[in-house]
Amino acid sequence: MESIRFIADMHTHTVASTHAYSTITENAQWASEHGIKYLGMTDHGIKMQDAPDTWHFENLKIIPDFLKGVRVFKGIEANILDTNGTLDIPENVKDIYYDILEWVNVSFHIQTFTPTTKEEHTQALINVLKNPYVDVISHPESPKFDIDFNEAAKACAEAGRLIELNECRLGRGEIYRERAKKLLGSCVRYGTSIIVGSDAHFYTHIGSFDNAVKLLHDIGFPQELIINADEDRFLNYIKTRNERIKHNV
Ligand SMILES: [Zn+2]
Ligand SMILES: [Zn+2]
Repeated sequence: MESIRFIADMHTHTVASTHAYSTITENAQWASEHGIKYLGMTDHGIKMQDAPDTWHFENLKIIPDFLKGVRVFKGIEANILDTNGTLDIPENVKDIYYDILEWVNVSFHIQTFTPTTKEEHTQALINVLKNPYVDVISHPESPKFDIDFNEAAKACAEAGRLIELNECRLGRGEIYRERAKKLLGSCVRYGTSIIVGSDAHFYTHIGSFDNAVKLLHDIGFPQELIINADEDRFLNYIKTRNERIKHNV
């Protein structure tokens, strides 16, 4: 496999999540110096312990579209709260959120979803895809939230959504790598597109995907399924996403 060049990192945190330590300006500066042209600013949804207030998301619009020449997407890493796929985006501010949010990662976190069964976790993922704003299922390899990888990959392929390969989680050990490997196998089987995300909580981790690249090379994962390894492919996804949302509102 030829070397992979990434142009986007759509899962990054700022000081707005209190266990992250860099500002959006520091993040954008680093991104601009490391070939990352598109940056997702995706702080935690409000139910997370360290999350910003709703005001954070409502006010994201004041950040310019470009910082240091990098296109900054105002986003969120929302929490999946139940098997219906409910997210921690409150109904009363939904319009504001959805007018502003340009990128939506969704995740299971132990703080906001009590693990139940593989079937229920899988059902939650399938249900969350009914929400047209959802772009990515983040860190779906999590051993704490076992899911049916085939069902998840198939549902994402059918709904045109992305499965994340999370660099930060891959660094946590063999069990994460093994589970990610199986998940990627399911993505190949169903032709599901993936996105590699750093989940950076400090600016120097942005666009740094060493573990992910190693895994993708090891299994010969097809580059054409990696959304952020090609600018046209990435921009095409953005176009499709915007059309999907327009037709659903
Ligand atoms: Zn997360
Ligand atoms: Zn994260």
